[in-house]
Amino acid sequence: MNELLRKSAAEQSKALKNKEVSAVELTKAAIERTKSLEEKLGAFNSLTEDIALDTAKKVDEKIAKGEELPLLAGIPLALKDNMNLVGSRTTASSKILENFVSPFNATITDKLLGNLVPIIGKANLDEFAMGSSNENSAFKKVHNPWNLNKVPGGSSGGSAASVAACDVTLSLGSDTGGSIRLPASFCGIVGMKPTYGRVSRYGLIAFASSLDQIGPFARTVEDAANLLEVISGHDEKDSTSLDLPVEHYAANLNNDIKGLKVGVIKELMSSEGLNDDVANAMRNAIDTYKNLGAEIVEVSLPHLKYSIGIYYILATAECSSNLARFDGVRYGYRTPEAKNLMEMYTKTRAEGFGPEVKRRIMLGTYALSSGYYDAYYKKAQQMRALVTRDFEEAFKTVDILISPTCPNTAFDLGAKSSDPLAMYLTDIATISANLAGIPGMSVPAGFDRDGMPIGLQILAPQLKEGRLFNAAHKFEREHDYYLQLANI
Ligand code: GLN
Repeated sequence: MNELLRKSAAEQSKALKNKEVSAVELTKAAIERTKSLEEKLGAFNSLTEDIALDTAKKVDEKIAKGEELPLLAGIPLALKDNMNLVGSRTTASSKILENFVSPFNATITDKLLGNLVPIIGKANLDEFAMGSSNENSAFKKVHNPWNLNKVPGGSSGGSAASVAACDVTLSLGSDTGGSIRLPASFCGIVGMKPTYGRVSRYGLIAFASSLDQIGPFARTVEDAANLLEVISGHDEKDSTSLDLPVEHYAANLNNDIKGLKVGVIKELMSSEGLNDDVANAMRNAIDTYKNLGAEIVEVSLPHLKYSIGIYYILATAECSSNLARFDGVRYGYRTPEAKNLMEMYTKTRAEGFGPEVKRRIMLGTYALSSGYYDAYYKKAQQMRALVTRDFEEAFKTVDILISPTCPNTAFDLGAKSSDPLAMYLTDIATISANLAGIPGMSVPAGFDRDGMPIGLQILAPQLKEGRLFNAAHKFEREHDYYLQLANI
């Protein structure tokens, strides 16, 4: 492989500017590596070679003319396959959208293309982003590059695996309850969920609209900060996007964090299922922050233990409504034979959706039905407010919060696929940030006894992405975890 593929985007940008490599060469190398690993990894639903090479050519033309390059120009990137890119298939890893070709670009796609970022392909995911292990894809499973018998985490498993395997340098995922942070943790890379509304959701296939956010994956905090800058901003096509200026997040990465108040989330440090190696890594992380001059405080989030219950009412309620549009009429799969309209709807949906998606549509429809609405949906909304208030209280006394991203490391393929409840519990540490709309990220924090990566989760108050990147970067540079790459 071209050794440059293992480097960070920052280093690749330098090499492009110094003409050590052309953007076309770098893009071709990424495509070649992706193809050579695909059978082992299953990380991609489709490749978009022509689009990537067209973009790379434009980068080389600019370099030849001596023009300034936009941020991340020429850096190979993968899009999660629930984001629209004109001319590509956008399947959400569902049979119901298997042959759907995007007629429009997501706003984030326009921004990437505007910055001349070559989009190499569409990364595999759990069907409609529902899952924690990427085993719910209708097409194929994604394998963890650190150990091919293990899951990469989900739902953005393909996005995470492709960056960890150095197919691409950057990727985008979507995070509704942890789908960026969890696979980042399982694959030993950086994954970040921004504040709700920071990034436009226009053109992202909706799962649970009040929780969904698009965010970056990278192998360094600096690269993730730059990618967030590229995709952020107000969008009149998404009424929930925030009309606030975009920051240059990478500017303050090296700021001193002496005196920073770091809250350790008590409930996540003592939870029953916490693996010993993860607990050790957390103790080391706390020491690292102490050595950097931060002040460590234990913080309690009393309603955190309800977050999974709240989430599985709200997310399923929202998805039952969002997925009503897949009816065989307007787009996607339609059953070949039906006697009447009702049968066409029901057969299309029965044949097009996988088991997890159906389970959630049923749960959500039940929670919203008259007679149960007050007992479930309304109660969950009220509880969501309490979780949000826990964070508001905590952030009155601390600047950031830390915890493991997940109580365990990547598990074996198949280990939890027949037990949905066990799978849901994987997200205990991540879900509450979506309920509260705050930014969070996972950074590499060591390895377990089997050599599988461990992730440190860092959370910050709404719109304090700059603080989050600063604290994560300082942590990252105290260790060499980010330099250790999967041997694949
Ligand atoms: N694992 C969670 C779920 O299955 C979160 C998914 C996500 O963030 N998209 O819903």
